[in-house]
Amino acid sequence: MNNMLTLALSKGRIFDETMPLLKAAGIEVLEDPEKSRKLILPTNHANVRVVLVRASDVPTYVQYGGADLGVTGLDTLIEHGTDGLYQPLDLQIAKCRMSVAVRSDFDYAAMVKQGARLKVATKYTTIARDFFATKGVHVDLVKLYGSMELAPLTGLADAIVDLVSTGNTLKANHLVEVERIMDISSRLVVNQAALKMKQADIRRIIDAFSAALAK
Ligand code: AMP
Repeated sequence: MNNMLTLALSKGRIFDETMPLLKAAGIEVLEDPEKSRKLILPTNHANVRVVLVRASDVPTYVQYGGADLGVTGLDTLIEHGTDGLYQPLDLQIAKCRMSVAVRSDFDYAAMVKQGARLKVATKYTTIARDFFATKGVHVDLVKLYGSMELAPLTGLADAIVDLVSTGNTLKANHLVEVERIMDISSRLVVNQAALKMKQADIRRIIDAFSAALAK
């Protein structure tokens, strides 16, 4: 168990887009998470396993050593904080952006110019707070856990801060993107103690991932 290497992934996009990188490192996951209910998936290496956790729990698992490594979005990483986490690689997967969006009939630029206090609904309160503080815009943040698009439509908020990929979700809800806060992609994170104890194995994975990314 001591030399076991545990990689934390979330199901869906991050899992799917990490598979080719693992393959480049000679690691193949032996079960399909969409077909199995197992939370611990074996690989073709007896000492490497994948644990499936909720996306927002990946940094927690890695920080406290429940997993040695993990793949997590920059958004999740910033919201969780980076204590105890070594971040060797931007994996350039699950790319999207963090943006501010409002109803198409809301004059965001005028409100900001007037120095109005904005009500902003988001799951990403750290990113939103930092962004508006840097801009000097006063905001009241409303924490939500999902369906942020609904907030401006129901009068819960003037604006939302959310991830945007194609923009289709915003469009379908008559919202427009008014600010791009940052580009988001997924990062490899490593437990700092594991990095010392299992240096050779972890290095091998980091090197194989970065070689695959350079192609
Ligand atoms: P889209 O309609 O393509 O702009 O996608 C926007 C919706 O998908 C939003 O509800 C986002 O929360 C979610 N989303 C898009 N890209 C990502 C990503 N890379 N990671 C997590 N959620 C995403």
